[in-house]
Amino acid sequence: MEAPTSSPPTSTSTSSSLSSWSEQRLWGWGRYPQVKALSVNPENLDQAQQRLQSVVEQSSSVLAFAHGRSYGDSGLPAEGALAIHTRRLNKIIDFNPETGWVRCEAGVSIYELIQTFLPRGYFPPVVPGTQFVTVAGALCNDIHGKNHHHDGTFADHVRAVELFTSGGEVVTCDAGQHPELFWATVAGLGLTGFILSLELKLVKVNGPGISMESIKVRDLDHFFEVSAESGEFTHTVSWIDCVAKGSKLGRGIFMRGRHSDDRPAPRFLGKMASAISPLMSVPFSMPNALLNPLTIKAFNTLYYGKHPQGELSQSVSYEPFFFPLDFVRGWNKIYGRRGFLQYQMVVPKTENNQAIRDILTEISATGMGSFLAVIKEFGERQHGGLSFPSPGVTLALDFPNYGAELMALFDRLDRIVMRVGGRVYLGKDARLPRAHFKEMYPEWAKWKEVRDQWDPRGMFRSRMGERLGLTL
Ligand SMILES: Cc1cc2nc3c(=O)[nH]c(=O)nc-3n(C[C@H](O)[C@H](O)[C@H](O)COP(=O)(O)OP(=O)(O)OC[C@H]3O[C@@H](n4cnc5c(N)ncnc54)[C@H](O)[C@@H]3O)c2cc1C
Repeated sequence: MEAPTSSPPTSTSTSSSLSSWSEQRLWGWGRYPQVKALSVNPENLDQAQQRLQSVVEQSSSVLAFAHGRSYGDSGLPAEGALAIHTRRLNKIIDFNPETGWVRCEAGVSIYELIQTFLPRGYFPPVVPGTQFVTVAGALCNDIHGKNHHHDGTFADHVRAVELFTSGGEVVTCDAGQHPELFWATVAGLGLTGFILSLELKLVKVNGPGISMESIKVRDLDHFFEVSAESGEFTHTVSWIDCVAKGSKLGRGIFMRGRHSDDRPAPRFLGKMASAISPLMSVPFSMPNALLNPLTIKAFNTLYYGKHPQGELSQSVSYEPFFFPLDFVRGWNKIYGRRGFLQYQMVVPKTENNQAIRDILTEISATGMGSFLAVIKEFGERQHGGLSFPSPGVTLALDFPNYGAELMALFDRLDRIVMRVGGRVYLGKDARLPRAHFKEMYPEWAKWKEVRDQWDPRGMFRSRMGERLGLTL
């Protein structure tokens, strides 16, 4: 079910000291921007450490490249930096069936965790909207799931990380040993060191079933009403029609659910979905013209209209509930060669949620948004540093890459977000101006101090790190 994200390494070799590295074109999920970097794909942790050691000896710089599911440039090596793929660092090292603690290599994916541990009654504690992310990638963006209000972020379930640091040493960090390095690595965008392994606590479940309800919401006020009365559900999220205006602003489909021991209806069984998914793939970049304000408006109207009025209850398998987009392989190609960008922000909740209204009004006025737009209320837990989730309302929207016009819209959205003390998610970003970043993440300098202590010469460097002034 896995879809490759970037082209395979070519055979273009380089100077003798780097002879086993080959040039590769890399991009994130939004396919914008794209870079070329010398890359290797080590088979195991020993090989990865040898490569890292050679980077130390040559005073070069490097970045870990996992499954490339970050949208923008956070996972792309800076100019001149090398890339070490983590795809094959996917071994389970240890598992305690009594407690659910698993120690695994950095490149183990959420998909692999589910395949291995669901039959034993365990599930990852926090999952994003795709199962094709690695555990290290998840920690480096401190990802959130539909259960943030209930279970916090990914980091809340990790107790130790083993890192290869710029001094050429392997350091274990946790609550007792180097806690400052542990917390800088959480949402640290791969800039504090190379994660070799980590320890994660899985949660006990009774099977693959999710008992879920979906509710048609009329507008933004209705969304907040339904969200307020959904506290007993561990997982909540709402699709939002970002093209709707006026009295329909904020209309959408609210989904809420929890793990259950119900047997999912056959049509929702994961196996069947897996069987059809290879048939549903986007084989090449679609012409941009297929995706324009008119087609997007038509899709949103149809999608909203097809849901029955009121509430729908059903038992579904975890896959369509958590990962509906994984059924269409390579769906990121529908945005064409120029790629796409996601704008995800969080703003504090206020009495009439004016900032969210202003943002939605701004987007619907341009008609530039797409059919992928979600809104959710976060819970109280937050981790500071570069971690994104904080109490309030988060909104995430995909946009075809319309160029300068889109950048101007994002700039206007940034100003609304900054006005109320909100922030943009770095794991989805490809363009945030440095000044906006510094205002949105006031703890960035404290984070950088820790990073600089552990990487004084700048061994770990990314495109985003350079753009935002994190690694200079
Ligand atoms: C369809 C879709 C839905 C998504 N939904 C959500 C969501 O609901 N919530 C959410 O929070 N995010 C979501 N995301 C974003 C995604 O979860 C994050 O971007 C995640 O970090 C991607 O993981 P990855 O393994 O692909 O890592 P990559 O994107 O390859 O890398 C992410 C970062 O981790 C670093 N890194 C990776 N491995 C290592 C290592 N071994 N050592 C050091 N650094 C490392 C990289 O250098 C990079 O900075 C979604 C993405 C997609 C495509």
